[in-house]
Amino acid sequence: MADSGLGDVESLPRGGFRCRLCHVAVANKPSLDDHLRGKKHQRLENLRTVRQAQELRSVFVSGFRKGTPASELSDYFQAYGEVANVVMDKDKGVYAIVELQNETVLEKVLAQPQHSLGGQKLRVKPREKKDFKYTPPRKQGSARQGQLSPEKLAQKLCQADNVDAQMSLMVQLFEFSESERRLRDLLVTLFQEVFLEFFPGSAVLPFGSSVNGFAVSGCDLDLFLDLEKTKNFQASAKRPSGPQAEDGASVEQDSCSEDSILSDIDLASATVPEVLELVAAVMRKCVPGVHNVQAVLTARRPVVKFWHKESGLRGDISINNKLAICNTRFLQLCTEMDERVRPLVYVVRYWAKQQALAGNPFGGGPLLNNYALTLLVLFFLQTRTPPILPTVAHLKELSVEEERTVVDGWDCSFPKDSARLEPSGNKEDLCSLLSEFFRAFEDYDFAGCVISLWEGRPLPLPSFLSSSEAGSKLKLGPFNLQDPFEQSHNVAANVNEKTALRFQRCCCNAAKYCRSLQYQRKSSKGKIWGLVRLFQPGATEASVAENFVIGLPLTMAVPPAQAHELLGQARDFHLLWFQKVCASVAFVLRDVLKCSCVEVGQGLGEEQEVSEVKQEEEELEAKTQQLSVGSKRPLDEGGSNVSLPAKRLRVDDLLPGEESMTWNCAVWHRVWLGRRRIRRQLQGPESETQHQKANSLDLEAKVSEAISQQKCEARPTDPLFQFTVCAQASRGGTSCEQDTRISLRFSTDPEQASVFQEFFHFLQGFLPRMVEQHLVRKA
Ligand code: ATP
Ligand code: MG
Repeated sequence: MADSGLGDVESLPRGGFRCRLCHVAVANKPSLDDHLRGKKHQRLENLRTVRQAQELRSVFVSGFRKGTPASELSDYFQAYGEVANVVMDKDKGVYAIVELQNETVLEKVLAQPQHSLGGQKLRVKPREKKDFKYTPPRKQGSARQGQLSPEKLAQKLCQADNVDAQMSLMVQLFEFSESERRLRDLLVTLFQEVFLEFFPGSAVLPFGSSVNGFAVSGCDLDLFLDLEKTKNFQASAKRPSGPQAEDGASVEQDSCSEDSILSDIDLASATVPEVLELVAAVMRKCVPGVHNVQAVLTARRPVVKFWHKESGLRGDISINNKLAICNTRFLQLCTEMDERVRPLVYVVRYWAKQQALAGNPFGGGPLLNNYALTLLVLFFLQTRTPPILPTVAHLKELSVEEERTVVDGWDCSFPKDSARLEPSGNKEDLCSLLSEFFRAFEDYDFAGCVISLWEGRPLPLPSFLSSSEAGSKLKLGPFNLQDPFEQSHNVAANVNEKTALRFQRCCCNAAKYCRSLQYQRKSSKGKIWGLVRLFQPGATEASVAENFVIGLPLTMAVPPAQAHELLGQARDFHLLWFQKVCASVAFVLRDVLKCSCVEVGQGLGEEQEVSEVKQEEEELEAKTQQLSVGSKRPLDEGGSNVSLPAKRLRVDDLLPGEESMTWNCAVWHRVWLGRRRIRRQLQGPESETQHQKANSLDLEAKVSEAISQQKCEARPTDPLFQFTVCAQASRGGTSCEQDTRISLRFSTDPEQASVFQEFFHFLQGFLPRMVEQHLVRKA
């Protein structure tokens, strides 16, 4: 583990940790180590070192005349040695920080009893030593200062009577106050007035969480500057007859006069970056109180970012985002259709933020954004029985002529007024809806389908890809969530495999917690209950450490009818297949995933390298030919003569119904991450052929090999984590029982639960598939 940063670490209850430097809470030691080695922590540590060094060689200077330029101060202090930098107090210009080349120069400056500049006596003192404090960018400014601390929130929630009341309280605690709403309206009016001056006919339209029903105090202010009319005005102004605005006012003068900003640009032919640079210039020069104006042109939707100093609000202005106006109105409509929508979305958003699954202050990045997360909740509500929300396709059918809208080629028609829509007959309460939400997504195949709100169901990938043009354009990834209107857009395309797996894992943990009494009932002893524990970062993780089970259908490589036939005829069938499946499990762990894997001796305490199982497996193979797929030869031909091979396989030791085998395993590399990309690289540009499919065990083994060689060629000295897996036939005591499943029970050290969970969630899909292929290959 990295030594650096340990002084910043504080222990939390239940084995968690908090890094005070980065304001990050993690569930356990491996995650802490990851964090301390990670980019963010390293960057902040370096920054702190640099700042502290700067502090030690800087002086605080005041007393000079207002407006004195930095260069004058620099010239003055050069008399004592090199000056590295002068930072002036921008607001009032009454003080400056002068950074000297080194501490020797600093001592010389401080040794001088009297300093004066331009006849003014200067006050020069060492800089006060302040603790280095990192302020996450979104929290700067005053808008968020009134936000509830997690402790205060927990206190308030615990006072509620039940989970439904807690969920409603979440909305009340986080939504805008009346004054914040008014403040935002005023800001929009201010922008509107300024932009009308420069862009006649333009409209400033708020969208996003400020107006979609999911406002959280201090959230950003998303604005759309609609320049459609301005463009028309400009175009008609160029025609000889001169333009008339819709309200009858002539705009020719505005848009064509010498000093009009529009005289420099032709909106019809200008590029988005050109227009945005112009918008940024207007904001910088003409909107009072606006700072940090910056055009961000690389985003999917380029924007101008700004910060309104007085209110502390941050915001974006975009110029080509009509679809967002539509989807904002759609979200709003959903909140109006059913009163359960808002509390559910507020709670899921807060939970996801606490678990670091969603909410991405910098844009981009691998987390779900709040829009995507909200769509996922709406989709969940569409899939309840009976549905709580209608599909978007159904809403389109309900829209009337004047509501029909097409934006950028996408059908965005839906009713404007929720009063026209039938209320849902679904009566589920909020408490159970929340726990069902987690249950719905705990083992969801996000990569294998596309979630469609248009249809209100998941669309299986192969048919989705071939069914529409939009399908073929949608960027597939580990998390596929189709925009309800712009159907070629995956709103979760930024989510990486790691986040998708974590999302599932966190849902699984939350679902488990929601089944407990601690979630469902208010504590009479003043303990935390209900939503509170759900909101603690990683708090529900340890509770499922004992519950890692993967079920393998025993007959998966054999057609069921044939298996039945065999079952009826061979008393050893279960035993034999148990052995075969175990050999395949060991093969996948060891040869495909490159884990170390040691079989734990049964009852004898001896351990056997699983590599030996390979040999045994081959021997077993010869004896069990009659079980091959397609073989008609009944087992009994060999009958009880199908004696099982090496004693290590211990079939003779096992009683029917008691088959069990255990391995101790170690994982050395994060073989579950980035497989898709490497697979693609190894496969080359062609799509998967039948031949490649058949060889996918080899391909997957190569993928693991490539991952293990990514960072270091040699195996690291310590494994990432270790675990034990125990295979057991899950049927009861009689050999003729029909239940042919084998369960694999995994356990790990609770300290390693977090990283193990990532691996386990990957194994849930991967292992059964690979075991099946191995069985088929061997058949
Ligand atoms: P918050 O600002 O609280 O995170 P938000 O809903 O405002 O929530 P933003 O990321 O600010 O989220 O996005 C503003 C709006 O832009 C969204 O509400 C949505 O209307 C639209 N939007 C955001 N991301 C996407 C996307 N990937 N695809 C389509 N529209 C999007
Ligand atoms: Mg927003």
